Amino acid sequence: MGMKKYIPNEIEPKWQKKWEEEGIYASGLDKENKYYCLAEFAYPSGDLHMGHWFTFGGADIFARMKRMQGLNVFFPNGFDAFGLPAENAAIKKGIHPKTWTLSNIEAMRQQFSSIGASFSFDHQVITCLPEYYKWNQWIFLKMLEKGIAFRDKKLANWCPSCQTVLADEQVVEGKCERCDSEVTPKEIPQWFLKITEYADRLLWDKDSTLDWPKAVKDGQNNWIGKSEGVTFRYKVKDLGLHFEMFDSVPQTFMAQTYTVIAPEHPKVYELVKGTEYEKDVMEFVEKIRKKKVANKFNADKEMEGIFTGRYIEYTPTGKLISIWVASFVIYEYGTGVVNASAHDERDFAFAKKYD
Ligand SMILES: [Zn+2]
Repeated sequence: MGMKKYIPNEIEPKWQKKWEEEGIYASGLDKENKYYCLAEFAYPSGDLHMGHWFTFGGADIFARMKRMQGLNVFFPNGFDAFGLPAENAAIKKGIHPKTWTLSNIEAMRQQFSSIGASFSFDHQVITCLPEYYKWNQWIFLKMLEKGIAFRDKKLANWCPSCQTVLADEQVVEGKCERCDSEVTPKEIPQWFLKITEYADRLLWDKDSTLDWPKAVKDGQNNWIGKSEGVTFRYKVKDLGLHFEMFDSVPQTFMAQTYTVIAPEHPKVYELVKGTEYEKDVMEFVEKIRKKKVANKFNADKEMEGIFTGRYIEYTPTGKLISIWVASFVIYEYGTGVVNASAHDERDFAFAKKYD
């Protein structure tokens, strides 16, 4: 007798059918000794690839181990099914995003079955279906009631010809990936959630005994980026214009010798309008904008700036200090205007560079 050959197309469907009939991966939610095992949900992009099984394989093995230990494992499956690819496929192929998404989900579900994944397919979450997203809407309304959701304007990538906001991935070399028009930053009213209200509770304190990797704790704390300081209000000389500036090291006020403003700041134009500086400054703003939109901007390395011809009436010392547009100032941080001090390495280097 020769060795019996393993022919996957014969043996696997045979046993998968039996497993399904016997419901060995059913939820077990009605039994004792339950164990809840959850992996992230796949995006229904079309076909499974190795990356999917790289993600779900580990969780699948873990769920099996728990079953072998006698637990009734609830291992549900789902699809994170909202997003740009469905919209783009709809435009490109002329099919409804729902049709496209649901047929992808069906294909992927069959592929998960043919791999032999042990998901509890009797429980599945598909985020693009109303049965699911009605809960998102309910949560949003609760946040609105509590004042945690609010409307504000923020810069977004805007395609003037598609008349729509684009995600960063849709901007290629500063141009709209659909129509090739030049993308411009535009202030768009958007909904925001007041996550800063929770910043203190989300910070890992250094005495935390929870067993998480240090990189994760540091990463979260840096992302929250809590910074304590003082907000000052200064007047621009000869203009009916004031700037508020956040300062995390106000004690260095004697070393503050100039002010920098982000190129995207809408007040830059007011500073230079009708002056001899207007042309050069607005060209500089445009140059930096293009670099940023094209993702060719390295905030850590770039250090370019231009004088606006304007001054802050700097109350702590009674001096006038010059206002510069500087490439490295982040509009979204603080108010987008800061006083620069010799105690900060980059500020000092910028001061040296531009004398
Ligand atoms: Zn476009």
